[in-house]
Amino acid sequence: PVHATQPLTVSRLTKSFAGLKAVDHADFSVPPGTVTGLIGPNGAGKSTVVNLLTAQFLADEGSMRFGETELKGLPAHRIAPLGLARTFQNLRLFGTLTVYENVLVAALAAGHSPHAASALALREIAALELGEVADMVAGSLPYGARKRLEISRCLAQEPSLILLDEPAAGMNPDETSDLADRLLRLTEERGIGLLLIDHDLEFVNRLSSSIVVMNRGKVIASGTPEAIRRDPAVIEAYIGR
Ligand code: ADP
Ligand code: MG
Repeated sequence: PVHATQPLTVSRLTKSFAGLKAVDHADFSVPPGTVTGLIGPNGAGKSTVVNLLTAQFLADEGSMRFGETELKGLPAHRIAPLGLARTFQNLRLFGTLTVYENVLVAALAAGHSPHAASALALREIAALELGEVADMVAGSLPYGARKRLEISRCLAQEPSLILLDEPAAGMNPDETSDLADRLLRLTEERGIGLLLIDHDLEFVNRLSSSIVVMNRGKVIASGTPEAIRRDPAVIEAYIGR
């Protein structure tokens, strides 16, 4: 909440894997308190961008500024306390811990005292309507509930920006629409910004005030959902595969 006005600015961000440019001089920015979509065909480099932002990978080149702070070079454990939280495309939960314990661990890892962490965990479990399953082991939850648990864990870190890597993947249409409502409420009520990656373009369009499009590591377009939908380079990227 201290950082709720910081934009994220990515400049000339580059990362290669054995000669393949997964991210190639990418430039884009995410204004605070709004939803920015990040779309592109499979293999475009979207998840790699998130992995660079949260120091799962080290960038070869470029910069990633979150407000005044340069993220490049920071160790992963320094990122969440800045107010930047993320979910993973492939769920990463503690399957043998309860829902409550999973969220508590996230709050503690973000630097909250045990007392504050416990209160935050309870609040964010309620925010994602997981109260009834708070004492259940995470691994036993249905898939959609596990995806919500990941978001609950993000919120317990009190972020100003959440990076969501395919939060609706594997959800049915009802769960997806429910999730969209919930995410919109979070941005409106709390001013939390989202960088939203998803395959479901309707879902991304519905939530986002601006959209960044990647293809083969490069940012090929950015703008409003309406402008993106009509952009020839975007149409080409989707059809040309
Ligand atoms: P997206 O999320 O847009 O589908 P990714 O960022 O996952 O794309 O991948 C971009 C490219 O980088 C792909 O060609 C992928 O195979 C490659 N890649 C991603 N992560 C790794 C890795 N850890 N090692 C090697 N190649 C990777
Ligand atoms: Mg991905």
